[in-house]
Parts: sequence; structure tokens; C-alpha cells
Amino acid sequence: MKLLSLTAISVLILSASAAPAQSKTTKAKVAILGGGVAGISAAKNLVANGITDFVIVEARDELGGRAHDIEFAGIRVEKGCNWVQGLGTNPVNQLSKKWGLQVAVNDGTDVVFYDNHGKVNGTKTYNDFNDALDKTYDFALKRVDEADISSRACLNIVGWNPDTPLKQAAEYYAFDWEFAENPDVTSCNYAQVGDASYDGSFGPNSDDDQFVIDQRGFKYIFIQEANQFLKKHDPRLILNTTVKNIKYSDNGVTITAKDGHKIEADYAISTFSLGVLQHNDVTWSPKLPEWKRVGLFGFHMATYLKLFLAWEDQFWDNNQYTVYADPANRGYYKQVTWQNFNAFTPKNDTTNIFFVTVTQDQAYRLEAMSDNDIKKEVTEVVRSMYGSHIKEPTHMYVPRWHSDPLYRGTYSNWPIGELEEHHLNMKAPVGRVWFTGEAMSREYYGYLQGAWIDGGEVGTKVAKCIKNKCPKQPYYPEILLTDEKPKFVKRQEWI
Ligand SMILES: Cc1cc2nc3c(=O)[nH]c(=O)nc-3n(C[C@H](O)[C@H](O)[C@H](O)COP(=O)(O)OP(=O)(O)OC[C@H]3O[C@@H](n4cnc5c(N)ncnc54)[C@H](O)[C@@H]3O)c2cc1C
Repeated sequence: MKLLSLTAISVLILSASAAPAQSKTTKAKVAILGGGVAGISAAKNLVANGITDFVIVEARDELGGRAHDIEFAGIRVEKGCNWVQGLGTNPVNQLSKKWGLQVAVNDGTDVVFYDNHGKVNGTKTYNDFNDALDKTYDFALKRVDEADISSRACLNIVGWNPDTPLKQAAEYYAFDWEFAENPDVTSCNYAQVGDASYDGSFGPNSDDDQFVIDQRGFKYIFIQEANQFLKKHDPRLILNTTVKNIKYSDNGVTITAKDGHKIEADYAISTFSLGVLQHNDVTWSPKLPEWKRVGLFGFHMATYLKLFLAWEDQFWDNNQYTVYADPANRGYYKQVTWQNFNAFTPKNDTTNIFFVTVTQDQAYRLEAMSDNDIKKEVTEVVRSMYGSHIKEPTHMYVPRWHSDPLYRGTYSNWPIGELEEHHLNMKAPVGRVWFTGEAMSREYYGYLQGAWIDGGEVGTKVAKCIKNKCPKQPYYPEILLTDEKPKFVKRQEWI
């Protein structure tokens, strides 16, 4: 196996002083909680607005959050986000260009479909599904003032009926693989907002993806941004510090970490993932108000599990993607998306990584299994696809985002039932704590641009609070059904 040549990894990862933190108290005007993309962007915008008295408190030993690469089978692969989704003026695309991120062309149509009889032509079915999906977006826009329904209902209404394994596989590839949840639980009204996250929002021809293969990791571009305002060993960067409790009021915030370190701040910006906020990994004093919890618990933190596998030799097709249409198991390894890493790396660089992504219940199932059991299971599946001669993978890595107390999932998805007002409540400040992060972005939830744009906006708002007047952030203590009664026809009673 010839491996990708490793470029010198020159990322300057700023590290905090390692002094024991017991009973230590740090004071700052702003405490940014979490050092992912939203946290970095919030800090950058505080600085841009003249506020330099802040700290970033991060549980891990580096910045980046869900932008997180790991060593696998001799190269660095992205355990977390992997695609620049949306080109043009998308700030993530702009950062990618600014810092010379190495990316590969992504071509979703470079896909081969199989069923249990062998290779099948799935092009028409895949195109049909994409047409149906476009129709659901038009349909959702038309009925935007009406009560939400599921994406499944919308798909059915526009004529999509996944009554064959091939149709189900095409649907999985174009829907679940993006939203990390199926159409049955996903909002129809808001799936269309998710789609617009990169389809058209960022100018002409921006509706495209690029696959990041940079050996410095996707996080490199965000860390480079942080390096513009943080110096080496900057005491404002407090790494390896897990927040346990946040005490808030209209006058200030006290943050207590697991190791006893206290941070007293005039304002705090929480960038914790929706999953973390839902799991009570961090406690609040006083408890978060009910209107806020209703918003937070109603939204979905989905899980998109990339099961990394590598073999000695390539036995799969040269296409970027392979999709299997298993007659019985929607969402099982055989009906999800397999990705051929060799098709993304520069010519003559062979990694022999062929990884598979499972979502939702299959992801939770895998996370609960031992690595050995997963290896046995996936080897059998691959043998059933390519023949009994296939050996066990030489390498395997199972990310466990759903069970990780620092994430509790991979990215958010707008479920049926969550209203605009609920989402505003999720984001609304409590006392002097402001909330940002990927899930808090109405336009770009689920994507890096959501974290970057929303984090920046909240940083700017908090700077305004400090310098002159806090901008108003709406919230709804009660969300009532509309006064206007829907038309209701009483069901005829059986006589
Ligand atoms: C597998 C996967 C695939 C993805 N694919 C893509 C993609 O291709 N394209 C795309 O645009 N987006 C993708 N995303 C989504 C994208 O990664 C996120 O939207 C973005 O990184 C979120 O950034 P954030 O700052 O909002 O949150 P986070 O990155 O979660 O930042 C929050 C930070 O808080 C820290 N933290 C948590 N709890 C505590 C605590 N108690 N104390 C202290 N610190 C704590 C965490 O360690 C983390 O660093 C993907 C995500 C995953 C996981």
C-alpha cells in the first residue's frame, strides 16, 4: 500500500499553562465556553469589536471541536466534518481559499449502485429522487404559513413512493446521508431551509461540495484564524478544562470546571453542542427556564457515523461512491453510502480506505457494540457484497460521537414539530449567557457555516452589550396555538 505523503504539519496549536487549577479563579469580561468553530468565530468578532478581555474554555487539548482529524491507516482523516458544503461566498469556502486548504472535487453523481444480483443502473432512480426532493422544497415554500408536516409526507405528496430497494437506497443516499436522519422525522418546511444552506445562498454556482484531504486537517483553517488573535501560550486559552456548572444572573456568570477552576465573567457565550445541552452534561444554576428547555429538547441532534475501514488492496469500484440496495434493511451497511477514499486522493496515492457511513438508529446500534463485534459484522457484510475471499480490514476506527459527553451526536436536524419560535427560544440568552453554535443558526444549522456565522454574530452582539447597549434577542415565554381556528369538520358518528 502506498500512502499519501504526509505534508509537514505546521499547525500552531496554542496550549494553555498546565498549572493545577484547584481553587483557581480567573476573571474576564467574556467567557467563551467551547473552542470549536463557533467559539473561535465569537472570539475573533469580540476582538474585531475591541474586546480583548475574554477566555476560551475548552475541555479538549486543542481547538477545533467537531473539526477534528485523526491518524488512520497512515494518513490523517477527518473524524468530523469533511466537506466544504457550499462554495462562492460561503465563509468556510473563503477560509479554505485564504489558507490554501487541500480539497478534492466531490461528484455525487460518480456513484455505482448494486443490488443483491450485482451492479444495477440506478441513475434514473437517483435523478427521480432528486427531482422529487426539489419538488418538496417548492411545495414547502408554497405552504410555509401552514402547519409543518414530515419530509416523508411531502415526498409522498409530490409522487415519490420508495417501493423498491433501489428507490430506498437512492433516497438514503440523497436524504439520510445529508440530514443524518430519515424523511419520516425530518421537517418538510425546514428541510428546504437546510437545502438552501448551500444551494444558492452563496452566489452563483455556489451549490457544490469539496472534499477536504488536507493533511493538516480541516481544523487548520480555523486554527489559523485563532492564531491571528491568540499568541503562543496565551493565558486566555484555557484548554483541558471541562465545564460542570454555569451560575447565571442578570449581573454576571460564574463557571465552575470539573477540576475546581472558577471563571467569573460579565458575560458568557455557550457554544456547546445541542446534544450537550440536551444531556445535562453541564448543569445550570438556576435551572434553565422551561421555555428554553422546550426549544432545546424539541430540536434533534442527529448522528452520522463514518466507520473507517482500510484493506490491503482495493476490491471495490473506482467510483467515488458505492450504494447498495439491500432488499430488507434500509439504513444497514448494505444500504448506505460507501466512500472510496482512493478516488479523492492525488493520482498514485493509494490509501485503500473504503469507509461506510451509517446514521440514526444504525449509528446508535454500532456505537453500543464492541469494536471486535463491529469488525466481524462488517467483514461479513463486505464478503456478501464482494465475495467470501475478502479478508478482514487491516484497520478500523469507530467514532462514537453520540456517546461522547462533549458532543452527544454529530450535527442538528430540524424535526417536524419544532416551530420558528422554539428555535428562537433555543438561541435566546438567559441572564448574561448567550447561546451560539451550529444548531442555533436558523439558516445554516448542521453546517460549519452555521457555527462560523452565528458564532461571529453572537460575538458582535456581546461586544455591543459591553460597549453600549445589548441588542434585543426575542424569546417566547409561551408559544400558543394561533387564535385563528383551523377549519374542522366533525367526523360523522356511526349510528
Ligand atoms: C461526523 C461529522 C460530519 C460532519 N460533516 C460536515 C461537513 O461535511 N460539512 C459541514 O459543513 N459540517 C459538517 N459537520 C458539522 C460541523 O462539524 C459542525 O457544524 C461544527 O463543527 C460545529 O461547531 P460548533 O463550534 O458549533 O460546535 P463544536 O465543534 O461542538 O464546539 C463546541 C466545543 O465545546 C467543547 N465542549 C463540550 N462540552 C464541554 C464542556 N463541558 N466543557 C468545556 N468544553 C466543552 C467541545 O469539545 C467543542 O470543542 C459534521 C460534523 C460531524 C461530527
